Amino acid sequence: MIAKNLEQVNARIDRACKQAGRDRREVTLIAVSKTKPVSLLQEAYAQGCRDFGENRVQELVEKYEILPKDIRWHMIGHLQRNKVKYIVGKVHLIHSVDSLRLAEEISRESMKKQVTTSILIEVNAAGEQSKFGLTDTQAVMELVEQIAALPAVSIKGLMTVAPYVEDAEENRQYFRTLKQLSVDIMQKNIDNVNMDVLSMGMTGDYEVAVSEGAGYVRVGTGIFGERDYGIPAGE
Ligand SMILES: *Cc1c(COP(=O)(O)O)cnc(C)c1O
Repeated sequence: MIAKNLEQVNARIDRACKQAGRDRREVTLIAVSKTKPVSLLQEAYAQGCRDFGENRVQELVEKYEILPKDIRWHMIGHLQRNKVKYIVGKVHLIHSVDSLRLAEEISRESMKKQVTTSILIEVNAAGEQSKFGLTDTQAVMELVEQIAALPAVSIKGLMTVAPYVEDAEENRQYFRTLKQLSVDIMQKNIDNVNMDVLSMGMTGDYEVAVSEGAGYVRVGTGIFGERDYGIPAGE
């Protein structure tokens, strides 16, 4: 099932790239494997997947220990400062940095381990109350400038989680907002800040995201099927 799903997702990314006049190599598919057992990740790995996304520290670390070391792990979920120490040195990219204090902790821990950690700034492009990330352009600019001064983190771009919508076209505006914001930040020419990467697009809207310039698309359901979060006790 996973081989077939991956084939379909990749074919749709190919097509979206072609239509947008983009080089397919500019887009990396992250297989979002949260809640899924290691056996399914191994299936995806056998099909060539090397980028996996997780949203919980413990789960990421457990899978990291078991699976091959050439996997690039992406932390895509909200990250608590007290858990930073468990993933620094293991993750390829942290997509969900939305505060200076979190970035400071990542920098501190990276110094200790003598690594530089690549991060994205999470932007709440649609301004949804339920979501993490910064909503205000000015606040994003300020945060980027502050984080740029830290010694052991490197800002690579921006990330957003768009709303859940029936019609993916409704999210195009938010992907454009993110792209424009990255252009505005680049124009400030801040040392140690790169805006090469936009992480945007999920199962419902990744083709639209690709057409608006996504560098990473994060696809879970489209590869692994629906997630089962279990039924709470007593129901
Ligand atoms: C779960 C998750 C995804 C993948 O969602 P799907 O709709 O299953 O593709 C992408 N990004 C983030 C931040 C997530 O938490």
